[in-house]
Amino acid sequence: MDKIKLIEPYIAFDQVETELKDIFSSGQFTRGKHVLQFADDLKQYTQAKHAFLVTSATTALTLSLKALDIKAGDEVLVADFSFPATANVVEDLGAKPVFVDVKIDTFNMCPEDLQKKISAKSKAVIFVDTFGNPSGIEAIIEICRQANIPLIEDAACAIGSSSRGIKTGNLADITCFSFHPRKLLCTGEGGAVLTNSDSYANFMESKLMHGAKGTRGLGMDFVTYGYNYRMSEIQALLGHTQLKHLDKIVLSRQESFDLYGNKLSALGFKPQQSASDCHHNIQSVVFTIPETIDQIELARYLAEHAIESTLGTYCLSGTTYYKNTYNDVQANAWWLENNTITLPCHDNVDIERVCETIQQFCKNKQG
Ligand SMILES: *Cc1c(COP(=O)(O)O)cnc(C)c1O
Repeated sequence: MDKIKLIEPYIAFDQVETELKDIFSSGQFTRGKHVLQFADDLKQYTQAKHAFLVTSATTALTLSLKALDIKAGDEVLVADFSFPATANVVEDLGAKPVFVDVKIDTFNMCPEDLQKKISAKSKAVIFVDTFGNPSGIEAIIEICRQANIPLIEDAACAIGSSSRGIKTGNLADITCFSFHPRKLLCTGEGGAVLTNSDSYANFMESKLMHGAKGTRGLGMDFVTYGYNYRMSEIQALLGHTQLKHLDKIVLSRQESFDLYGNKLSALGFKPQQSASDCHHNIQSVVFTIPETIDQIELARYLAEHAIESTLGTYCLSGTTYYKNTYNDVQANAWWLENNTITLPCHDNVDIERVCETIQQFCKNKQG
């Protein structure tokens, strides 16, 4: 029986072979035409004014917080159902992540809970498009605008999504994408940070390049201290090649998601919900499981039948580190960590087989 993998990247060697050879023969492995092209293509695709390619969404988030001058003593409100990087970048700067609970249907930041937790120390909000879903971001944008707090969108999973017809990348003050293989567009490791603000852009452009801006004499002019967060040419080549096919990929995943929904709803599984005014790229197919079913037992059964699956994602406030540090576990995020399952979604998934296996598991449970 063939193993059904959770994810397979949407890129083949022959799509990049010629240009890859050119990179090797030219010796231009960094700061070349592919980085320029991918950044330009991202700007065009999202209509954001500035886009910078970086090494990961984690470095993109760190750069965003630095652009907002987040430091010790500050609080940053973070959506609690996410990958730990979302809170780690705050903690790393000595600021305090304040965990905001999520809605049980969309898995996204709950506006009422955000409103309640804003304080005089709040310096930024990090909204997460959970599994690429931007549902509810409009309400968060409005709260941030009223409270005059900048909004960072952790859109690590959300390239290709949109809200009210506006693409992710052009919704929040700063947007961070990931191009890790688990996401829709894969450069190995990699990320991007986008903004419409010239001042954030000026800061980030220099910081991600050792603090350089322009030239002085024969060399660069180092106007500040900085880092090397740059993406390489090979990664950028993979990126702009896939971006051309992104909308098609999103459509085919939507079909898979609907097919899963049709089959599994009857068994009591509930798909992640999307607001009617947003378009979700389906980075992951995630269901909340019926009360009678144990998440770990189900995943084990699927593994025995050569089908990969995993939990949805993490309740950040409930991880060992953040629970020990802040002891502020959020109820919905905790429930979702323990009652969701991610199912395989790419072009080579036999969805019938996955659903039949789940059906068999449910039947066995009933005895
Ligand atoms: C994957 C992910 C990250 C981390 O992305 P990297 O590119 O691996 O640093 C951050 N936040 C969310 C919501 C993610 O899904």
